[in-house]
Amino acid sequence: MPGTTVFERYPPSDAVLDAALADTRLAPLWLDLLPARRPRPELVGDATADLCVVGGGLTGLWTAVLAAQREPGRRILLVEGKRLGWAASGRSGGIVDSRLAGAHAAQRWPDDAAELQCLGRANLDAMELDVGALRLDVDWHRSGELLVAAEPHQLAQLRGGQRSPDTISAGTVLPDTALLDTAQVRAEIDSPGALGGTWRRRDAATLDPARLVIELARVAQDLGVEIVENSPVRALIDRPDGVDVVTAGGRVRASYVALATSAFPSLLRRTRLLTLPVYEYALATEPLSRRRMATLGWEQRQALRGLGRRSHWMRRSGDDRVVFGGYFSQYHYGGRLRAAHEDRPDLHRELAAHLLTTFPQLEGVRFSHRWAGAVDRDTRGSGHYGTAREGRIAYAGGFSGVGLGTARFAGEVMLDLMSGQRTERTALGVVREKPAPFPPEPAVFAAMTTAQRALDRADHRGGAHGPLLRALRAVGLAP
Ligand SMILES: Cc1cc2nc3c(=O)[nH]c(=O)nc-3n(C[C@H](O)[C@H](O)[C@H](O)COP(=O)(O)OP(=O)(O)OC[C@H]3O[C@@H](n4cnc5c(N)ncnc54)[C@H](O)[C@@H]3O)c2cc1C
Repeated sequence: MPGTTVFERYPPSDAVLDAALADTRLAPLWLDLLPARRPRPELVGDATADLCVVGGGLTGLWTAVLAAQREPGRRILLVEGKRLGWAASGRSGGIVDSRLAGAHAAQRWPDDAAELQCLGRANLDAMELDVGALRLDVDWHRSGELLVAAEPHQLAQLRGGQRSPDTISAGTVLPDTALLDTAQVRAEIDSPGALGGTWRRRDAATLDPARLVIELARVAQDLGVEIVENSPVRALIDRPDGVDVVTAGGRVRASYVALATSAFPSLLRRTRLLTLPVYEYALATEPLSRRRMATLGWEQRQALRGLGRRSHWMRRSGDDRVVFGGYFSQYHYGGRLRAAHEDRPDLHRELAAHLLTTFPQLEGVRFSHRWAGAVDRDTRGSGHYGTAREGRIAYAGGFSGVGLGTARFAGEVMLDLMSGQRTERTALGVVREKPAPFPPEPAVFAAMTTAQRALDRADHRGGAHGPLLRALRAVGLAP
């Protein structure tokens, strides 16, 4: 049927969806499964630090761990506004990709494409080594990512080698990437709509992101890092020999500051328009029985991703749930972050329907959790890095939905930048050049809303970009 997607051609019935969603909790799966945690102390009074890291998501935690490993004995204090990992890090899909930059990077910095790919692979390898060496109990599986074509035009894209710039890593195709025909892809995952795929065998891993938060905090503390929670930073005040990091209850006299505040309002005015918070939605099923799991195939536990202009991600959890999300992105006027934005039964229902179209064998399974979180988008979709206040402050952000691998890389970059040394990382175009800022309201709200409609239209038109979508992509207002 022209003008439709597979999800409209083969929807589940309302009764099946009603039953599947009847008892679903509005709570992020991974955080909900963690044992109860006692909050760490708040910042009270004056403290001093050689390095103060602001933000206790995975970027902040990796930065603290890497800093302590680079320079043992350095006094490092990590300041988190709420609880460690409560934001995007603990709500993510837990798919760690080797990609460090978005699709446009190869066109924008063609000379860096190979280097970016190598550094991305090296970053994932280093993370794998850390998981072993630091005994991180995070349920790590490096099974790669399977990109699945579910529409004939997506298959044609793969077969013709016109790898979709939206979905495939920038640069040349790595040697252990395999093109799969219909039979081969269905031997991996038994989805009746799967027409073909690409398996990036070594370029992605899955893990439990909330357990990674807990484990990195443990390692950081073993290395001497101090961590405070429930201490939102209000201001950064210059001193001749450093920066004061000010909270409601205290002040850190820091020599250097690393900002890892992601989609939250930047503490530096100059970077405030570089990032927008865009909500992404996710669902998890209850743990599947071994028999039910076997009906899906999926023995290799690859991360799965669609090839549409709006695409889903999917993975198996350690306890054999299907964790699924993506496709719908919502930007709210004024870039507001509100818990109320997470409760979207309409979007969660549509996501559930998409999963049941992908795997009709899941009929009868219930969804245990639904949740959402804010992704830090920038206009390049590639992340950005920089320093302020004569190199005393480093910042990183804009990872645009693929931040779990980039979080570690960003820690290395911020430490490189603060050290003042030129490294293979700081020489990259993506690190040296800043993205264009987003326009102010109301223009940005209008553009983001229009972009969502245009992406949806493209998916209904064989993936073709209309002139409007091309224009929005050119200025970074559509992914
Ligand atoms: C639903 C969803 C699914 C995702 N799935 C994936 C995936 O599968 N793979 C992937 O690579 N990426 C994924 N992402 C993106 C990924 O989660 C993020 O890119 C990554 O977690 C960013 O980590 P972070 O530490 O930079 O940010 P966050 O985890 O958002 O942490 C930022 C922290 O800074 C703190 N903070 C902010 N301002 C202040 C302040 N003034 N004072 C003190 N503290 C402050 C916040 O409280 C917060 O804890 C997903 C995101 C979402 C929402």
